[in-house]
Amino acid sequence: MKHYKIAVLAGDGIGPEITHEALKVLKVIEERNDVTFELMPASFGACAYFETGDAFPQATIDICDQADAILKGPIGLSHEEAKKIPIDQQPERGALLPMRRRYNTYANFRPVSLPKSLAHFSPLKPEIIGEGIDLIIVRELVGGLYFGEKEMGVNDKGLRYVRETLEYDEEQIRRIMHEAFKLASKRRKLLHNIHKSNVLKSSVLWNEVMEEVAKEYPDVKVVNFLVDAAATALCLNPIQFDVMVMENMFGDILSDQGGGILGSLGLMPSACIGPDKAYYEPSHGSAPDIAGKNIANPYSMIGSVAMMLENSFDMAAEAKNVWDAMQGVFGDGYSTADLSKPGSGVTMISTEQFGDKVVEKLRNMPKA
Ligand code: NAD
Repeated sequence: MKHYKIAVLAGDGIGPEITHEALKVLKVIEERNDVTFELMPASFGACAYFETGDAFPQATIDICDQADAILKGPIGLSHEEAKKIPIDQQPERGALLPMRRRYNTYANFRPVSLPKSLAHFSPLKPEIIGEGIDLIIVRELVGGLYFGEKEMGVNDKGLRYVRETLEYDEEQIRRIMHEAFKLASKRRKLLHNIHKSNVLKSSVLWNEVMEEVAKEYPDVKVVNFLVDAAATALCLNPIQFDVMVMENMFGDILSDQGGGILGSLGLMPSACIGPDKAYYEPSHGSAPDIAGKNIANPYSMIGSVAMMLENSFDMAAEAKNVWDAMQGVFGDGYSTADLSKPGSGVTMISTEQFGDKVVEKLRNMPKA
């Protein structure tokens, strides 16, 4: 019997609600397989700050250090509420970035996927979606502007100023490129390299290193795209993309656009992989506007569990069953409020009901 320790950081806003559904799915995975999961809940983000004065407290660090994988809900507060926390303890700066840095989770995989049968979820026309959207954003997660030196103050003209540094070394670029090329090799052998080399020198180095790495993957076709053009292309012709690789901030922004073309950020799970540790989280935030209402879409969190099963626990077949179970619930005509607008023909169900239906589907699937 295999045994894995999972740090469970439910987070803020809708985090606890969607985590609850994800844990129901993990329980079923345990029932169906020779595996046990030791769940180690820990406080992280704004909730941790209000409980302990620290957004990433030592007790949580200890639990994450011990864990075989980390399942993380979204963190954060509304714009107004965030002002109650000192800038450096606000959830991303105080918890998320330190966790990414601690575990060096440099490779972030964000699938943007919508089968043709669910094209009605998307704001795009069916002819644009064609046979379905199925791309993955590979985002560099521990470099660039988010991790560079930051400085705020008053300059010698007496004006307030801010300085943030965008820094990458070639090794940081090379390792994310290898991840992207390896993934592209296993898929359509097509890699879109997203950059801004017409303006940013960081992108000039990014592209240089990309070209060096590309020589090791001669079967992968590379298409270069400026990030601004890529934003448009994601709306006008998303099916041209398969694997897209980009630096940290571009990936943050374009992956939210990915959620937009699918119809909801609730369809955006992700995996954040480092050399020794990985954590799994929805790509979206804590959605304070819908928190506590039992209407959030838990797909992103359950999908993050599926990614954890495949990447951290070598359970690819069960991961596929989880994806299929969720697609099955959609296929039966159900969804949470974000994807069941009046007149859409979709029956609206709650967060909990979605989780229950996924569990029911999973229980009825042949064992892996
Ligand atoms: P958000 O992603 O929380 O929400 C944007 C919109 O998408 C909202 O209308 C929300 O209701 C909707 N949405 C998001 N997830 C959904 C789901 N699962 N089901 C249905 N609808 C969903 O972005 P925001 O409102 O700009 O940010 C809220 C907080 O989250 C901020 O404090 C921000 O800093 C934080 N944040 C955290 C992370 C993270 O934990 N990795 C990522 C992004 C933002």
